[in-house]
Amino acid sequence: MTGQLFAIFGNPVSHSKSPLMHNLAFKGLGFEGCYNRYRLEDGTKLKETFFALGLKGINITVPHKEHAYTACDVLDPFARKVGAVNTIVEKEGKLYGYNTDAPGFLKAISEFSNVKKVLFLGAGGTAQSTSAILRDEGYEVTILNRSAGRLEKFEKEGFSTFTFENFSPEVYDLVINMTSAGLEDDALPAPEKILDSVIPSSKACVDVIYGKETPFLKLATQHGKPTKDGSDMLLYQGIIAFEYFTDQRYSFDDIKLHMEKAFTL
Ligand code: NDP
Repeated sequence: MTGQLFAIFGNPVSHSKSPLMHNLAFKGLGFEGCYNRYRLEDGTKLKETFFALGLKGINITVPHKEHAYTACDVLDPFARKVGAVNTIVEKEGKLYGYNTDAPGFLKAISEFSNVKKVLFLGAGGTAQSTSAILRDEGYEVTILNRSAGRLEKFEKEGFSTFTFENFSPEVYDLVINMTSAGLEDDALPAPEKILDSVIPSSKACVDVIYGKETPFLKLATQHGKPTKDGSDMLLYQGIIAFEYFTDQRYSFDDIKLHMEKAFTL
């Protein structure tokens, strides 16, 4: 095979749409590249595995985004700030790390107008990078999580944080599920009573989970609210990663034209 090799590293990784997305864009744009999936069990082996497989670039998914961060020789300033890398590109033997989840999410929610205050349900890695970019863009982000542990770092960074026990609801323009509740179970990200206190006054509800209607989005629909799942976030983070993989050779819209077919096949 000629051309450059790319992959997604994760565990599990069999469900990932990234190989389809990137291969459609390579083919559609005539770029000689091939994108595979690789189940990486030990995150500390990320760098040696990357070079052993002769790769040019990778995306990294759960649970290796922090290992990806430490594997990089050069970090993009935003990836450094949020401590998580989901895209790596090799240049002259060095690994360059980027975070495309957060700008992908920002673009996905920019379709909602007149949004200022948002409520995040969840305080994991995705909440960390997306809350940082939203704040940089002028949004006011409140974080609500079921347990206190992960809230500490948000508190230190000056976000308003709550657990279910001490939450006092306000009016939020968007209520966003940033947890994995609903991914492989039928759980809501917070007790229904809490959700019933914030969804009715919101403009819309968003979930980062894609490919299914989560219990959270079902509840939002029952309240008559517009909803949005995580498909656009996935698509947009992939397009931004593709721009890095191909050294900004193609425009966002040209990549989108091909990559978005992965969601209709
Ligand atoms: P983490 O493991 O870092 O964090 C998980 C978060 O979910 C924690 O806040 C945890 O709370 C909370 N949580 C998990 N289960 C429940 C539950 N049953 N009830 C309430 N809270 C719960 O995960 P990530 O941040 O990496 O990922 C979060 C989600 O984002 C996943 O669903 C993932 O698929 C999705 N995602 C989507 C992307 C896209 O492109 N669309 C890109 C990246 C991620 P606690 O602290 O109490 O444990």
